[in-house]
Amino acid sequence: MRWWIKEKMDNLFFQDTNQSFSINIEKMAYEQMLHYCVISNPYETGGILIGNYSSNQATANILQITPPPKNSRHAKYNFWRSSRGLKGTLDTAWKDGQYYLGEWHYHPNAPADPSNTDIKQMITLSNNKKLKCPEPILIIIGGNSNNWKISISVFSNNGHTALECMK
Ligand SMILES: [Zn+2]
Repeated sequence: MRWWIKEKMDNLFFQDTNQSFSINIEKMAYEQMLHYCVISNPYETGGILIGNYSSNQATANILQITPPPKNSRHAKYNFWRSSRGLKGTLDTAWKDGQYYLGEWHYHPNAPADPSNTDIKQMITLSNNKKLKCPEPILIIIGGNSNNWKISISVFSNNGHTALECMK
């Protein structure tokens, strides 16, 4: 299977241009996202990001991702993530010191840039007090197994910052 490139891959590391914040994606989490993208193409898919922050809060570690929860709706240019089962997943993660960090989704055969809808949704999430995640991360996978693309942004009520891949 050509898309299964784990032998060549390591953790992915991203940083903002001020080098004040970075995001580390565990290799297994990245591989799982690619796997769900492959089996979903040509439809969008996605899930949530789970992990922790470094003690100085400067690095977010994405340690797990979820597949699309049951009852999510997949279209070619849209994905509606259901919340089914996520509470249980997050309760289990909490016992390991891990929590909700944000969202991921797939733009099949297309650029990984966030759409205006993506940006609005993430800013709404950042203002959602129940989520207790004022600066959620959005990972978008684009392209396909011949040419993966990835974008990573961090959102707050003031807007968003795109991070650069450092490796
Ligand atoms: Zn999108």
